[in-house]
Amino acid sequence: LLDPRPLTGTVTTTCGYCGVGCTLDVHLRGGEVAVITPTRSAPVNRGHACIKGRFAHTFTRADDRLTTPLIRRDGQLQETSWDDALGFVADQLTAIRAQHGPDAIGMISSARATNEENYLAQKFVRTVIGTNTIDNCSRLCHAPSAAGLTASFGLAGGTNCLDDLDRTDCVLLAGANPTEAHPVVGARIKQLVLGGAGLIVIDPRETELAALADVHLRLRPGTNVAAFNGLARLLLDHGHIATDFLTERAAGLDELTAVLHDYAPERVSEITGLTTADLTQAAELYGQATNPAIVYGLGVTEHAHGTDGVRTLANLAILRGTVGTPGCCGILPLRGQNNVQGASDMGALPDLLPGYQPITDPRVRERFARVWGSPVPERPGLRIPQMFDAAVAGELRALYVIGEDIAQSDPCTSHVEHALRCCDLVVCHDLFLSRTAELADVVLPAANFLEKDGTFVNFDRRVQRVRPALDPPGAAKTDFDILRHLAHALGNDLGCAGPATAMDECAALTPTFGGISHARLDHEGPLHWPCPDTDRPGQPVLHLDGFATPDGRAHLAACPYLPPGEQADAEFPFLLVTGRRLVHYNTGSMTRRTPDTELLPAETLDVHPADAALLGLTDTAPVEVTSRWGSVTMPTRTTREVSQGQVFAAFHFATTPTNALTSPHTDSATGCPEYKVTAVALRPG
Ligand code: SF4
Repeated sequence: LLDPRPLTGTVTTTCGYCGVGCTLDVHLRGGEVAVITPTRSAPVNRGHACIKGRFAHTFTRADDRLTTPLIRRDGQLQETSWDDALGFVADQLTAIRAQHGPDAIGMISSARATNEENYLAQKFVRTVIGTNTIDNCSRLCHAPSAAGLTASFGLAGGTNCLDDLDRTDCVLLAGANPTEAHPVVGARIKQLVLGGAGLIVIDPRETELAALADVHLRLRPGTNVAAFNGLARLLLDHGHIATDFLTERAAGLDELTAVLHDYAPERVSEITGLTTADLTQAAELYGQATNPAIVYGLGVTEHAHGTDGVRTLANLAILRGTVGTPGCCGILPLRGQNNVQGASDMGALPDLLPGYQPITDPRVRERFARVWGSPVPERPGLRIPQMFDAAVAGELRALYVIGEDIAQSDPCTSHVEHALRCCDLVVCHDLFLSRTAELADVVLPAANFLEKDGTFVNFDRRVQRVRPALDPPGAAKTDFDILRHLAHALGNDLGCAGPATAMDECAALTPTFGGISHARLDHEGPLHWPCPDTDRPGQPVLHLDGFATPDGRAHLAACPYLPPGEQADAEFPFLLVTGRRLVHYNTGSMTRRTPDTELLPAETLDVHPADAALLGLTDTAPVEVTSRWGSVTMPTRTTREVSQGQVFAAFHFATTPTNALTSPHTDSATGCPEYKVTAVALRPG
């Protein structure tokens, strides 16, 4: 701002960090970002933005940004040309496919990439390679939301939009710390509370919003299902249910009632550690609210029974009839990454084509095959954790990773690194030489969101434009262009000349996106899916005309509580919960290369003061954290934000790789890892 030179332009685009999807004005000077401001008229952020979206942009011109393709020769990654790199990848993929078949090749697409790039990625894998082994990192976060919300309501998205929260008189916030992970939503909830709305927080940690809550259900990690069942039982016992709604629009009440027989408050207290009084207060607050809303995050999904967690949480909204009714507030999952919703919407999934159309449906495959001019493989592919297991077993020989640092972000990283080493070919697109890129055979320099054209879908199903403010540096390319060029090197033409035509093709094949185009978004602004045709607006509120389930009803779920994959024991007496910190984002590859990092230069292990005293730990003292899966040493931070017997860390720093500790246990329904419960031991490091 102190630079006296005039600004040379402004580009309005969508933030590339979290799934809130704030609209940002990127002001340019001399072809570089001068300053970023939140767009005042933006419907999502209403003139607000957080420290990441607003200030964490200097990574884009960091000195160590990858600008040239790299290929491993003589054990070293060496600079090369695009022709050489793509020719090598094409030859290797062709040879692996010829020798081992197409299912020996897998791709991990990217929640950081645009919809159009994800659409092209799954088209590439299905038509050029000939396999359905493609997945995206929603597997690691909100796959249980997609599965759970689809089972309950018929569609894999939140039932309402952020603006609907303005109507609520009670927010039930479960397993989420939006103040740090989704700050603009966190601020919105805080404003609601200051305006008089009730707040129930269900979280093992004392977050900022928990401190503001009317009741904080500080449950034991891994006991969500018992807590949600306990609340459902109290809603039923105390008559806080929408009887007409349940009769006319829901199914499964008898089965749920039978299961809830075992969830009297006393038993729920035993499992969760919550008091009967707190449970009752929460049930009364939610049950008596005129228009309650549910907002939840990864603390619900990233469990061995995460899909059950989503479904039993959705039960509460169904019991109160606050979904699919005019004026309701519904249930909103806080999707993590900027386009994690869109990556799944676009079919970067092993069993679903764009718009969640099942790969096993021959009519769906036939429709796609006709437009793509290529058969669509029938057999569902592997999920991300299955890809790693298959690589170790010698069945998956090539792994193609777009913009994900799986060696830092995925659980049990020693297993991930072993899987990468087992592959004959590992290819990465990335901005920097991440841990995954260090292990790759070919690294292709990619563009970031400030350099891309396309769209993202935010957490409330809003399809929003992404516009390029900068050119990629050096020879870096967008993921879209890399995939098109690689297809050419393999003798194929993916047929989408640019992002706009890719979206047009997607819209023609995907009923939920049928009315969406770049031209319309540019003219009308963001649109919520489903948006089936160009004559109708999108739908901010779902299910008003009936639920999208086969019988048109919302389905209550009768899920008993099952324990997490690990419990604390004598050898590993603490439970580690992982999460995010305000100033950093996921693996930190972007935010650590900005001034943000001065505010948080290193990860810490958060330990309750009483536990720290017993162990002889003081603030900043190194603590060695050991689980059954790995060991990491990091500085101690004593805080009452965690309960005794529990510890917390984020995974933003490659030097303290928290996910070396997390276990390979996954959600039984979706394969989502159990990041939120790992038994660990501590000792002064
Ligand atoms: Fe970006 Fe999320 Fe911050 Fe908004 S809240 S500016 S989308 S990181």
